[in-house]
Amino acid sequence: MIAVDFHVHSIFSLCGLHTVLELLERARKIGMRGFAVTDHGPTIGGRLNSVFFERFISPDPHVSILKGIECNLLDREGAIDLPGEYLRFLDIVLLGIHPNFPKGLDRQAYTEMMLAALRRNPMVDIVTHPNDATYPVDYEALAEASAAAGVALELNNSKIRYPRSTPAEAVALLTACKDTRCRIAVNSDTHAIHELGDDAAVAPLLRQVDFPQELIVNRTASAAFDFVEERRSSKR
Ligand SMILES: [Zn+2]
Ligand SMILES: [Zn+2]
Repeated sequence: MIAVDFHVHSIFSLCGLHTVLELLERARKIGMRGFAVTDHGPTIGGRLNSVFFERFISPDPHVSILKGIECNLLDREGAIDLPGEYLRFLDIVLLGIHPNFPKGLDRQAYTEMMLAALRRNPMVDIVTHPNDATYPVDYEALAEASAAAGVALELNNSKIRYPRSTPAEAVALLTACKDTRCRIAVNSDTHAIHELGDDAAVAPLLRQVDFPQELIVNRTASAAFDFVEERRSSKR
């Protein structure tokens, strides 16, 4: 189980099924220490709620609810749909390529766009599902640039579980991260409640490549909170 899961959708994403309090209840029940609510950026229907960002505090002192967003890549120049007014409230910023973006481009094109996005948006902390088969990227190049920027690449449990990517692709991603000393975040990408904190589909892949524990930013709860603090202070 993931102690602090950095990628969770609520009903404020069109595709999420649950309220923040339902997610909290589940997290408490299975013994998680926290999770980030990372609803989609507005381009694919995320309804980012200013009350959540400005006023919400976790009612459970034992389970931290981090405030995040999963932004969308918007164009070839690397623009993303992060609403700037929420930036000061955000604990974590995720970026992924989603169906608002054209399919069918080649690996080099998607890679260049992601690299441009990382250069242009230093507030991004984690790149989500780089092994999504619809939008292939060069893992080595992305891992190298991410490592240099302090960004973590995501090992996404749902993409393997359902499956939108193959174990072989995830292993290739992990191998590139290991070789370049790029950090990763192991996340569930929860949409349905039972997915919260789940890493069962990817845990065997980490063992398969003997992935270094110290490169997993959320290997423990305290490592996860340290990562959030490190990223926050790098933006000040
Ligand atoms: Zn995503
Ligand atoms: Zn997601």
